[in-house]
Amino acid sequence: MKKIIVTGGTGYIGSHTVIELLNNDYEVHIIDNLSNSDISMLDRIEKITQKRPSFTQLDLRDKTEVISFFNGISNIEGIIHFAALKSVGESVKMPVKYYENNVMGLCSLLEAIELNDIPNLVFSSSATVYGSPKNLPVTEKSPIGYTPSPYGATKQMCERIIEDFTYSKSNFKAMSLRYFNPIGAHDNGLIGELPTGIPNNLMPYITQTGAGVRNQLSVFGSDYNTPDGTAIRDYIHVSDVASAHVHAIDFLTNYGESKHFKVNIGTGTGLSVLEVIKSFEKTSGIKLNYILTDRREGDVEAVYANVTYAQNLLNWKAKYGIDQMTKSAWLWEKAMRNIN
Ligand code: NAD
Ligand code: UDP
Repeated sequence: MKKIIVTGGTGYIGSHTVIELLNNDYEVHIIDNLSNSDISMLDRIEKITQKRPSFTQLDLRDKTEVISFFNGISNIEGIIHFAALKSVGESVKMPVKYYENNVMGLCSLLEAIELNDIPNLVFSSSATVYGSPKNLPVTEKSPIGYTPSPYGATKQMCERIIEDFTYSKSNFKAMSLRYFNPIGAHDNGLIGELPTGIPNNLMPYITQTGAGVRNQLSVFGSDYNTPDGTAIRDYIHVSDVASAHVHAIDFLTNYGESKHFKVNIGTGTGLSVLEVIKSFEKTSGIKLNYILTDRREGDVEAVYANVTYAQNLLNWKAKYGIDQMTKSAWLWEKAMRNIN
């Protein structure tokens, strides 16, 4: 059984990926500091897969602890590195916290990789590395643009650090997966996204408004140069994002040379905010209370992925459509709130 270390494995995308890995007979060890997740996730994962991943509570910024953790484990096939802070808005207010957590966390991990000759790394990157792209759909050859948030800058920096690290090694392969907009939840309603406080992202704001936790959704901007005036994104089901990681680690373990791959993970379809709301209303049967308001500062008009590279390189393609995404997100919201 191949042994994979998953950092941030009790978080939103990490937990869905751990399920995919366990279902594909990988041995999984999670490390997480539980700053944005809960230990009860292990029970949920076990309930879904009938397997329990091992777990160590560890902060990646603590390099000494990280190195001693890796010293105690042998034959690691690869690391999937999710652990990071992810709020764009918070990162603008607390830039140092973001650089310290996201960049230093990666550096600790790379040091452990170096010391233990771990051959494969999959890194959670983001479409934010493209900034405000000039041409759509965005391909991996699109330029890395100016990104206004420190969060986006950490993703650009981490990719650069991985690039340099890979170049310095003769037996190390890495893949940065640039996710577009992951939404939705596992289709049994047992795991999903757990935003703390008021959600910044569209999907949890929609489901919380549907559940009555929020009074009204503000649609940020209705004067964009798009068919219905609202902004366009490439929403992708979190289970599809999870399965991309299994394809990525499979690919890397079979690849021969040192290389850092960068791959878009999206559906290739752009949807407007109003189209997402329409899908939610259809799958939940709820009329959503929303208003059209001003644009949100820093938002771009439209971003969606060209996914040809992912298809060709990884033999992976997103399976789920928007209705399955909104349906599963609503199922999860209802389960959390005990709504029938
Ligand atoms: P999440 O917050 O649900 O999960 C991240 C996990 O990492 C949490 O469990 C948290 O406790 C842990 N963590 C954070 N800092 C840590 C540290 N220093 N040491 C140990 N553990 C730490 O976030 P997510 O949505 O699952 O995102 C996973 C990754 O994907 C992140 O790197 C994020 O930047 C990236 N990403 C997310 C999205 C998205 O929309 N969710 C989009 C693009 C990229
Ligand atoms: N959005 C919105 N209302 C909200 C949250 C988001 O209209 O309460 C819009 C946002 O302006 C963007 C889209 O929904 O056009 C996706 O935003 P999200 O924050 O989910 O992801 P982003 O693409 O910004 O990373």
